[in-house]
Amino acid sequence: MEIVEAMKVIAIPQLSDNYAYLIVDPASGEAGIVDCAEPKPILEAVEKEGAHLTSILPTHHHFDHVGGNEELLAAVPGLTVYGYDDRVPGLTLTVREGDAVRVGSLEGRILEIPAHTTGHIAYYFEKERAVFTGDTLFAGGCGRLFEGDAAMMVQSMQKLRELPPETKVYFGHEYTENNLDFALTLEPRNSALQQKRKWAAQQVAGGGYTTPTTIESEEETNPFFRWQSEELRQTLAEKFPDLPMDDVSVFAKTRSLKDNF
Ligand SMILES: [Zn+2]
Repeated sequence: MEIVEAMKVIAIPQLSDNYAYLIVDPASGEAGIVDCAEPKPILEAVEKEGAHLTSILPTHHHFDHVGGNEELLAAVPGLTVYGYDDRVPGLTLTVREGDAVRVGSLEGRILEIPAHTTGHIAYYFEKERAVFTGDTLFAGGCGRLFEGDAAMMVQSMQKLRELPPETKVYFGHEYTENNLDFALTLEPRNSALQQKRKWAAQQVAGGGYTTPTTIESEEETNPFFRWQSEELRQTLAEKFPDLPMDDVSVFAKTRSLKDNF
């Protein structure tokens, strides 16, 4: 039996705290890049892997995720550029929920997860148990509500919560320490959260990354996955006695507190 190496994912730091991710299909040598702000380190990683870059997989149109598209296209002509709408520079293939994305023999599909922007998408590789969530889901946090509201973000989060717990989550920014500090203000007694905060500090202090996380870890630690948490609700009820305790109100209050944290 021939054993084919699984999908390889390489995190590539961009700008001050962004991540792009190079996805490599070992079977074909083909690669795709999730988000691109700075082409140079991406092209270096492609060369180091001996890979053949064929596509850009942008999560949303913000400059720190697509600002390098044109330059990358100039360096590697003919790339397929996926995206939700033409706010993505260089777009060649408009995609919607459930559409297929191919990197060599790897096949992912699109999940629409709007609210940070209306066109925000995730790339979900079911067989490989990996999802690329851009600025919608971070380790311990979620993106700001620039183009959608809390109800829309709750739906996007719910869609991600339904993925298998072991699914690896590759997110768009290294905000984890700050996110977990905020989470601890709502759930100071959550031991999984306390442990993850310590782990994140060690990772970052050692020059490492906190990406990827997993759906399971987010279920245990992320206040934006935990609007049903009793401790979180208790904290909010004590601080805001008039707050309605439906899911969207709890989520919206959590998000507005984080905006000012
Ligand atoms: Zn963004």
